[in-house]
Amino acid sequence: MSDLVYLNGDFLPKEQATVSVLDRGFLFGDGVYEVIPVYGGHLFRLTQHLERLSRSLRSIRMEDPLPREQWRAVFNRLLAQAGPLATDRAIYLQVTRGVAAKRDHGFPDPVKPTVFAMAYAAPQPAREQIEQGAAVITLEDIRWKCCDIKAITLLANVLLRQQATDQGAAEALLVRDGFVHEGTSSNFFLVHQGQIVTPPHGPYLLAGVTRDLVVELARADALRIIERPVSSAMLAAAEELWITSSTRELLPITSLDGEPVGTGEPGPLWRRLSGLFSDYKQRIREAYPG
Ligand code: PMP
Repeated sequence: MSDLVYLNGDFLPKEQATVSVLDRGFLFGDGVYEVIPVYGGHLFRLTQHLERLSRSLRSIRMEDPLPREQWRAVFNRLLAQAGPLATDRAIYLQVTRGVAAKRDHGFPDPVKPTVFAMAYAAPQPAREQIEQGAAVITLEDIRWKCCDIKAITLLANVLLRQQATDQGAAEALLVRDGFVHEGTSSNFFLVHQGQIVTPPHGPYLLAGVTRDLVVELARADALRIIERPVSSAMLAAAEELWITSSTRELLPITSLDGEPVGTGEPGPLWRRLSGLFSDYKQRIREAYPG
């Protein structure tokens, strides 16, 4: 039997889960989403993901369609019906401004949101990339000025990421007016004159849940992290570099625009933070087995 997905209050096989061609997510990309990793049987940093969802929804003048406990119940049912899996899983959820009678930019009145969620086997971070480090390129950030909203409208991110892929790179770091804010689907950290630096929250980047956890873990381990704007020149002189996201966790970057980063190998501060992250994950796996 095909996995069940959640759509507007129902749990149904994904082949039967369909939305209208007049859905504003389809017509305008008018919606927001979240991706929540599941380690063991545990929804990782669920509160932080649901808080970000609420913030994204508020920013696009929508209300959260479900109370927190109901979201949790939906996710747990999606996870339970798939049974135990050998791999880690993830939840994808999406809320759009629903279906209107006709295609019109103005909001429908009333709004009946389309609410969708599914569980799936999470892609495993590639071992070779972790051991050797991955390559990134820099590209001009052609996106809008509300990158703190986790909008489903991802065309610029998709085009930029494909440029990176075409050049054999794992990610593109995006430059706006001489400053680098994030990647197409990740945040980043670098080591600059021995100090760990990441750009501060703001409109030009998504407040990554992984990023925030890395900052928290570092501080709990008495490692200093400086949140400050990162210029292209600082990036080019990085002694270490890594990107973070829910799916890629902490991925070391050893090549930037074709040049080696630092020694050209994953560095000691990445190793230390990556270790803290793995330990944190492992404690969760042990506390919430499968
Ligand atoms: N920035 C962007 C643009 C992203 O799409 C993502 C991944 N969703 C991130 C940063 C990292 O966020 P998180 O750690 O919450 O996955």
